[in-house]
Amino acid sequence: MAKRDYYEILGVNRSASKEEIKKAYRKLAQRYHPDKNPGDKAAEETFKECSEAYEVLSDVERRNRYDQYGHAAEQMGQGGGNPFEGSGFGDIFGDVFSEFFGGGSGGRRQSRGERGADLTYKMELTFEQAVFGYSTELVIPRLDECGQCGGSGAKSAKDIEVCTVCQGSGQQRIQQGFFSVATVCSNCRGTGKIVRNPCGHCHGRGRVNVRKKLKVSIPAGVDSGARVKLTGEGEAGTGGGSRGDLYLIIRVIEHSIFERDGYDIYCRVPISITQAALGSEIEVPTLEGRSRLTLQPGTQNDQIFRLRAKGIQRLQGNSRGDLYVKIIVEVPTNLSKRQKELLEEFQSISKEDSTPMKKGFMDKLKDLLT
Ligand SMILES: [Zn+2]
Ligand SMILES: [Zn+2]
Repeated sequence: MAKRDYYEILGVNRSASKEEIKKAYRKLAQRYHPDKNPGDKAAEETFKECSEAYEVLSDVERRNRYDQYGHAAEQMGQGGGNPFEGSGFGDIFGDVFSEFFGGGSGGRRQSRGERGADLTYKMELTFEQAVFGYSTELVIPRLDECGQCGGSGAKSAKDIEVCTVCQGSGQQRIQQGFFSVATVCSNCRGTGKIVRNPCGHCHGRGRVNVRKKLKVSIPAGVDSGARVKLTGEGEAGTGGGSRGDLYLIIRVIEHSIFERDGYDIYCRVPISITQAALGSEIEVPTLEGRSRLTLQPGTQNDQIFRLRAKGIQRLQGNSRGDLYVKIIVEVPTNLSKRQKELLEEFQSISKEDSTPMKKGFMDKLKDLLT
């Protein structure tokens, strides 16, 4: 099934403000929330759909990227990236629902664990790697769950006791004026557990520094600034919290011949004055290697030839951009005596206005001086 446009889902236009987006989402979320539609699968799907749309459009950076690349911006990484696996869902709940679910005091936060941090990794690609796609293995330093204790931080299961301050709930209630407010338990820092004997491998932290080898595939067509998301490849969470995500930030190294503009490629090809005047068949570079281009007699400097579909594969769809070849006519230097003679002879039998631009210029000059 094709993914619907995020703006369409929320029923806002593309220039909608942050407030308008939030308002639209809140209205939809209230209508389709699973609590209000128990057992209604369609409502749940709609709810997830608009939550995902809101998650992206409420984040300036992700919204920009979505405007630029569409859904591909979010899905360029492995696995497509289900936004409900991360903490984004929890964040938007806190943000939008606090008013009608009564903030953090309710039972909505089931997991006491903390989600692992998102990581970013700057990745440089050559022009060709970006154009054709690239698979490689990266070594990412990150915090992973300790293999010795399985993340509990305890030497053995016997060493984990229920926190006596919060009785395992992870929360403490504090009196504030007339109200009692729930806060994170200061004794167990919200985990609900106290570790008597820490794990020797991770010193009780539950996580250890590793250098993780990861196979990554960059899709064909990415450009500088693209962000490729690898869901769940960030740091491990704590206390049963989910993993963060890893974002590869792409930078493409400049090419010696090709310049890129979106999915189109530009290149400048120098030719001699005789090739330009007499016509010629020249070789031009393309992504697939050399190609031949026929120049008619009288080809001008700066003339541009378009080679259709010889550009870059688009991230969305199967089409390709074009390749533009710009002709640069070079004037010869260091002429030999014989070359000079021939050009002088050529000059002596040439009319002043034998070239199209010069003729136009001479005409205008005549008008100006009379
Ligand atoms: Zn506690
Ligand atoms: Zn450990």
